[in-house]
Amino acid sequence: MIDEIARNVARVQERIAAACRRAGRRPEEVRLVAVSKIVPPERIREAYDSGLRDFGENRVQEAEAKRPALTGLDPTWHLIGHLQTNKARTARELFGWIHSVDSLRLAEKLHRGADAGTAELAPLPVLIEVNIGGEGAKSGVEEGAALDLARGISALGSLALLGLMAVPPYSDDPEAARPYFSRLRRLGKVIDSARLPNVRMDELSMGMSHDFEVAIEEGATLVRIGTAIFGARP
Ligand SMILES: *Cc1c(COP(=O)(O)O)cnc(C)c1O
Repeated sequence: MIDEIARNVARVQERIAAACRRAGRRPEEVRLVAVSKIVPPERIREAYDSGLRDFGENRVQEAEAKRPALTGLDPTWHLIGHLQTNKARTARELFGWIHSVDSLRLAEKLHRGADAGTAELAPLPVLIEVNIGGEGAKSGVEEGAALDLARGISALGSLALLGLMAVPPYSDDPEAARPYFSRLRRLGKVIDSARLPNVRMDELSMGMSHDFEVAIEEGATLVRIGTAIFGARP
């Protein structure tokens, strides 16, 4: 058990580097976001001590509860799960990135969350979550509505729209996710070519423990990895 997390982190980083080599990309282009939902603070601390500086949580309440036990650490926190509008203000305080913006109403709430505190807050990096598989029960905007949402966010000066995020339909076979990843990349290009102010579609948050190598081959710049670092969740 000793150094299990450090070993897992090293192994994941090797796999990221190998996927980058296959795709002719540099490993620095891919940011490893360690998904620490359900993971207790001591184990998050171990991952931090092994060098990780990006952590993802999917629930505002859980992140808020764990934060006091994580003082002294200074990672970038990413919100990767669905965000309710009534938690937008708290989310803005707790997270450095929001991957899951899926409505203009939510974006507006995040934007207004800013003028509560300091006026000169740095723009908050946000991504639009796209329901890339068109699945009924999944969060995210429909593919066809993403450009309009980007236009809306573009007008909100305290938000910096940096790209797209998606969770493709689940399959045991990572190759099944490839067409969805490549669709997300093409959608990013379409939005980028609209040349909206405050919008720079450089980032693609895609790929989880079972399919991150395929995601990297298809252009992921942020991979969200939980199980492969912390072990299976109960
Ligand atoms: C839990 C979660 C992950 C990480 O999943 P693993 O399979 O454990 O790597 C990634 N993205 C989102 C949105 C999640 O909720």
